[in-house]
Amino acid sequence: MVKLSKRLQMIADRVPKGSKVADIGSDHALLPTYLAQQGIIVAAVAGEVNPGPFEAAQRQVLESGLSKIIQVRSGDGLAVIEPGEVNVITIAGMGGSLMASILEAGKSKLSGVQHLILQPNVGEDHVRRWLLSNGWKLESEAILEEDGKIYEILTAVAASKDELATLDALYEERTLPGGCTVSKERLQQMGPYLMQEAPEVWFVKWESELKKLAMIVSQLKLSTAEASIIKVEQVSQEMREIKEVLACLQKVKP
Ligand code: SAM
Repeated sequence: MVKLSKRLQMIADRVPKGSKVADIGSDHALLPTYLAQQGIIVAAVAGEVNPGPFEAAQRQVLESGLSKIIQVRSGDGLAVIEPGEVNVITIAGMGGSLMASILEAGKSKLSGVQHLILQPNVGEDHVRRWLLSNGWKLESEAILEEDGKIYEILTAVAASKDELATLDALYEERTLPGGCTVSKERLQQMGPYLMQEAPEVWFVKWESELKKLAMIVSQLKLSTAEASIIKVEQVSQEMREIKEVLACLQKVKP
C-alpha cells in the first residue's frame, strides 16, 4: 500500500468514491495508485509528458498489480484522455499558469468531467481566472503546510446553466469584516474562501509573499527605465492592498 504525503492525501480525500480519474502530470502515479488501492476509484489514467516520470509511473502501476485499473499514458496534458472517459481530473505539483494552459488546450476533453481537483504550486490566480472564464464553479479551497512549503488545493465543479450567470459573485468587490474593501483581483489572487476562513497558514503564506514582492521592488528600483518605474508602482500598490487585507482580517481574529 502506498503512503501519500499530506499534500497528496488532501487531494485524494477530495476524490469522490466510484470516480474515473485522470491524474495529469502523475509522475510516479502515487495518487492513482493510492486511490485504486483504497477502492476509491474504478478506473484511472495517469498522464505524463516526460519519459522519466512516465516510466516511473508504469513501474509503479505494474509493481502494484493495478494495470487493470490504471492506464499509464504518455502525452501532453489532457491529450491522454478521450472526451467522456473520466469524470474527475486531478492536476498537482505544477505552476498555475501551466495548469491553466493545460486546461485551455484540453477544453474539448472536459465533457463529462464533473470535478477538477487542482493543486498549483504557485500562481493560483491563473487557475481561479481560468475556472471563472470557462464555466467552472470554485467549490472549495484548502491550504496546508508540509516540509516548509505551503500548498493550496482548489476544487471546482462544472457549473449548471443556472449557476453560470452567478459565478462572478464569488469575486465581487466586497467589504471584509474588519471594514476594508477587497478587489476582484485580490480575491482571485488570495482566494475567496481562504480569505473568508483566514487560517493561520494563509497569513504565513501572504507574509512570505510580501517579502518576495519587496525583494522584487528593491531589484526594480535599481533601474531607471520607464517600465521599471511603472512596475514598481504596480507591485507597491499590490503590496499595499495585500497588507490592508491581512491587517483587516487580523483585527477581527478571535
Ligand atoms: N502530480 C505529482 C505530484 O503532485 O506529486 C507530480 C508533480 S511533478 C512536480 C510535475 C509533473 O508534471 C512532472 O512529472 C512533469 O513531467 C509533469 N508535467 C509537466 N507538464 C506536463 C504536461 N503538459 N502534461 C503532462 N505532464 C506534465
